[in-house]
Order: sequence, then structure tokens, then C-alpha cells
Amino acid sequence: MSKPLVLLDIPLAPFLQEMLVAHCETCPWSWLQQGHEALPQVQGVYTYGHAVVNGPVMDRLPALKVISNFGVGVDHIDLVAASSRHISVGNTPGVLDGATADLTMALILATARNVIVGDHFARGPDFIRYDPSHLLGAEVFGSILGIVGLGRIGWQVAKRANGFDMRILYHNRNPNIEAERALGVKYAGLDELLTESHFVTLNVPLTPETARLINESRLRKMRPDAILINVARGAVVDHAALYRALAEKWIAAAAIDVTDPEPLPRDHPLLRLTNLVITPHLGSATWRTRGRMGEMAAANLIAGLTGQPLPHQVTS
Ligand code: NAP
Repeated sequence: MSKPLVLLDIPLAPFLQEMLVAHCETCPWSWLQQGHEALPQVQGVYTYGHAVVNGPVMDRLPALKVISNFGVGVDHIDLVAASSRHISVGNTPGVLDGATADLTMALILATARNVIVGDHFARGPDFIRYDPSHLLGAEVFGSILGIVGLGRIGWQVAKRANGFDMRILYHNRNPNIEAERALGVKYAGLDELLTESHFVTLNVPLTPETARLINESRLRKMRPDAILINVARGAVVDHAALYRALAEKWIAAAAIDVTDPEPLPRDHPLLRLTNLVITPHLGSATWRTRGRMGEMAAANLIAGLTGQPLPHQVTS
């Protein structure tokens, strides 16, 4: 019997492809554009590069049973459309929390302490003598951190920030009493958190409620010495407002691991700013974490193809 057919949005890294070979045949996303004759046989979709999978895409795949996402964020998949078509959706929560929190701390430190600007300067022709008045930054230890979205990843950020003796405020829709007890974090309204924090990290999922959550009026509430870190999704921040906030110094600096669109057009004005640190969606990008994510994504896919409950099923 032939193996089930699975549509890939972008080619998988070879070690991830290896995990699938015994279980399915894969075919490229270009089949959708081409209207390939085998589309009606496709039983699985594996989203590795966050392609949009909406109702019209699902309708072109009448045998689709499962959408397996490599990652925890599923804002690119229409969960209601999947549910109404009895298509299971899987993701990879939990295994990437530590790596994503590590990157959040890396961005806080890099931005506060001018690591990127300093690296460029140290390699350039202008570094001819040590100057103790040059590139003074903000102190991370002892400052106030505001975490917007204290869930799995936000919890790990708070754990790390406690090691830096930071005072931690957090904002969720619902207070997290367990986190308050375990981590000593304090609940704050969003405006209070933005007004008080030296560092604000965004760790919310992208939903209709969080889209453009950080807009002009919210950026204007932040301290002039504040640093904004976005490791959530690009669309949580209004990029035009962020550009003005950084260019006009409403806030001191920002670091973004995610953008909208992703990547930004190469001539986007944000890319010219020196008070912005930007990384290409590296939150979970370690060998070990990406390996675990691959195992979970493969397990979800195989379960869905064989009609089993997914080990990590997303509910709408
Ligand atoms: P999670 O455990 O579900 O935590 C999300 C938190 O956000 C929850 O505490 C939730 O609390 C809060 N939240 C949700 N909607 C909110 C709203 N409207 N206002 C305020 N708070 C809200 O998710 P996670 O696993 O930590 O992942 C979070 C997101 O990080 C993912 O969805 C993904 O987009 C992003 N991510 C990015 C990378 C990267 O590479 N940069 C890597 C992994 C994940 P309440 O329900 O109480 O509001």
C-alpha cells in the first residue's frame, strides 16, 4: 500500500525529513499553485515555514486529516475552519520555552549594553583607543521588567530575570496566582506595566485581541529610557508606530525577533535604525530544541494520518 501524501510549505531540514520517510510521501507547496492532479489525495499538511492554511486552502484538499505545525504559534492556521472540516491541528508547545526565553534575555542584554553597535564599532577603523565615555548603556540587573503574556515562555523569561535581580510585572487577561507565588511576579494592567517598566517583553500569541496591541498610544505611554523586546509575533506591534517611537526617541531602543511581514522588505525604514536590534525569528533556533520540535511535529502528523488523537492537539 502506498504511503499517505503530505504537503510541505517549505523544504524540511534533512534531519526532520528523515523523521517522516517511513510514514509518508511529501510533496511541495507549488502543487497548490499548479493545481496538481494528486491534491485530492493529500492527507496531511506540515507547516514548517508558517504558510497560511485557511478555509480555501483546506477546501482544495478534500482528504486532509491533519495539519502539523512545527512551532507553538498557530496564528497562520484557521482553527475554526479546520475544526468545522474535522481536520486536527497539532503544534509543539513546551519544548521551546527555555530556548525562546534564552533569546529574550539575549535581546534584552544585547540592546541594553550595545552589543551589536559595539561589535560593529570594535571591528571598524574608528576604534583606535579605549574611551570610557563611549557607548554607555542601561543596566539590566535591578531594573523593572514587564512581561506581556506570562504563559509557558513568559514564565521562563521571569525565571531568568529573577537571576538578574529584576523586579517583574506581568500582564495577562487573567492573573496567574501560581506564577505570583513561584516567581514573585506582580500583576499589572497593561498601561501600568508599560508606564513603569524599563524593559517590556512581548510573549503573547497573535490573536485578533493582540494584533497591534503595541500601537502608537501604548508606545507613547512607555518611559523614554524603555526598551521593547518582541519575540511573540510581528503583528503584535504596529511597525509604523514603532519606527516613529525609535526614530523620535519616545523609547530608547527595541529588539525584534519577529516582524510583519516576515522578512521585512529590504528597504524598510526600521532596518536603518541603530537603536533597533533585529534577529531572523531565532526564538527556538537551537539544535536540541529544533530536534524536539521535529519529533513532536512528526508524532502529531503520524497520529493524524492514522486516525489517532494528536499528542499535542490545538483547540480553537
Ligand atoms: P502560552 O503558554 O499560551 O502563553 C501565552 C500567554 O499570553 C498566556 O499567559 C495568556 O494569558 C497571555 N495572553 C493571551 N492573550 C492575551 C491578551 N489578549 N492579552 C494579554 N495576555 C494574553 O504561549 P507560549 O507557549 O508561551 O507562546 C507564546 C507565543 O510566543 C506563541 O504563540 C508564539 O507566537 C510565540 N513564539 C515565538 C517564538 C520565536 O521564535 N520568536 C518561539 C516560540 C513562540 P491569559 O490567557 O490569561 O490572557
